[in-house]
Amino acid sequence: MNTSICPCGAKILWAVTVNGKAQPLDAETSEKGNIGIDESQNPPVARVIPKAQLEDLRLEFGENLRLYVAHHATCPKAAEFRKTPQGRAGGSTTDAGVFGDVPR
Ligand SMILES: [Zn+2]
Repeated sequence: MNTSICPCGAKILWAVTVNGKAQPLDAETSEKGNIGIDESQNPPVARVIPKAQLEDLRLEFGENLRLYVAHHATCPKAAEFRKTPQGRAGGSTTDAGVFGDVPR
């Protein structure tokens, strides 16, 4: 799979969203992850798993469940991923609200 090193030094895995947008993920799976990837596609397609479904999946797959965290959620340089001019101007670019769909 296509991995690279983020400017922050972390290894990231490149996937695309179902809408075809590039989606950097932490290369390591995480028990806090909520993103599953379809590795049969190239690049892999990342899908955010709804919370209710996550619980079912955990029950079904246990520790074999491999879920990823969006790198935005952990990257100290997350602001660099955000292309909106407003994001660069402000001081608080990594507020919890920015990536509201990522569990913490
Ligand atoms: Zn990073």
